[in-house]
Amino acid sequence: MKKIIDISLGYNFWRNAVYEKDWKDALDFLITSLRDELVFDNLAIYIIDKNGETSEIAYARAVGREKDAEADANWGEEIANQVIEQDEIVFDTPQVPNKNKKRISDTYLVGFPLRASGKLIGVLSLVRFGGPEYTRKDIDIATLAAEVIAYIFEKRALQESIAELEIVQRQMRLQDDFVATISHELRTPLGFIKGYSTTLLREDTEWDEKTRREFLTIIDEETDHLTELIENILESARLESKTMEMNFQPLRLDALIRDVITRVKARYENLEIFFDNDCGQIIQGDSTRLAQIFENLFSNAVKYAPDSKIVISTSAKKTDYVQITFADSGAGISKEHLPFIFDRFYRVPDHPGKAGTGLGLFICKRIIEAHRGKIWAESKNGTSFIIQLPLQ
Ligand code: ATP
Ligand code: MG
Repeated sequence: MKKIIDISLGYNFWRNAVYEKDWKDALDFLITSLRDELVFDNLAIYIIDKNGETSEIAYARAVGREKDAEADANWGEEIANQVIEQDEIVFDTPQVPNKNKKRISDTYLVGFPLRASGKLIGVLSLVRFGGPEYTRKDIDIATLAAEVIAYIFEKRALQESIAELEIVQRQMRLQDDFVATISHELRTPLGFIKGYSTTLLREDTEWDEKTRREFLTIIDEETDHLTELIENILESARLESKTMEMNFQPLRLDALIRDVITRVKARYENLEIFFDNDCGQIIQGDSTRLAQIFENLFSNAVKYAPDSKIVISTSAKKTDYVQITFADSGAGISKEHLPFIFDRFYRVPDHPGKAGTGLGLFICKRIIEAHRGKIWAESKNGTSFIIQLPLQ
């Protein structure tokens, strides 16, 4: 059989498919080159979904008459289904051209199977309004285009799989780090508890009252620490499976923040806290959970921005939400880590020696989300956490 397509056309088709990173750009280029070689009014690409059943429209473009048909790619659906059924090129041309009607109402349809690695993955449909019929050369050109399109979609599927794998990989790495951190975190208080209780139990030594109390206080504090740690871990596991229960009640946010500040001040006497509050609004919230957020933010500020003052401001300038900013003027968080600090187990590696599990902010975010709010961090002259909570 005589070859009709010349090699430069094939090269044009493939070039962008191979080089373009974005599949849509690659398709745009390809379809523009296709249009130079072959007349059509509309083009649609259907991709078979993961269940292998129905085909969904993945791309549509109108270039000729009836431009608005782009939005409505239904014209190609039937022929796409026929191609999927028959697994071959299908034509649908008017039997007898209707001379009385407008030419445009005669649709010349053709559907090409898209195959990747020997498997049918979708259909390329073309339409010409009012003809003419497709020639042998048209079909050859479109067949080649269909091959390139199938390649582009296979590449897209691969890119998506790679992106998913990267997420899983990151999670696994965090999981590994977590096991290492957590065993260290659990061992430290346990070591203290074991050490001091063994010492107290020694029969060959008598301890005076003051020393006994001192040792018992350490055991007591370390037990609290251990309990808190275990609660955080359980909480984060519960949050992962989304079973956190909320007890919503009307509450005054400024009063809640003031309570937390009082508690924090008792623990860190020298901590400078400024609370510039101009909101007496009532919101619907779970007060224990919301307090937990501010406690977490304080604990982080004390840990990662030592000696820094903390400025909390609230404003309800908008009518639909209240915004709280919690700012320290510590070293801040570098750009590359900022997007991840709310991830479960994520810790910035810039603070060697600071204990933690990477759960605090993850828990904060989940609590805020349960309130239909938002939380994010910004870093400029320190770290600011911004929280938005809906007023309704
Ligand atoms: P945990 O809170 O579970 O004990 P953690 O404090 O490491 O552990 P998060 O509270 O989730 O975990 O914080 C995640 C990371 O974000 C921290 O490890 C820290 O590196 C960084 N970070 C959080 N708050 C600040 C802050 N105010 N300034 C600088 N870095 C911060
Ligand atoms: Mg923390």
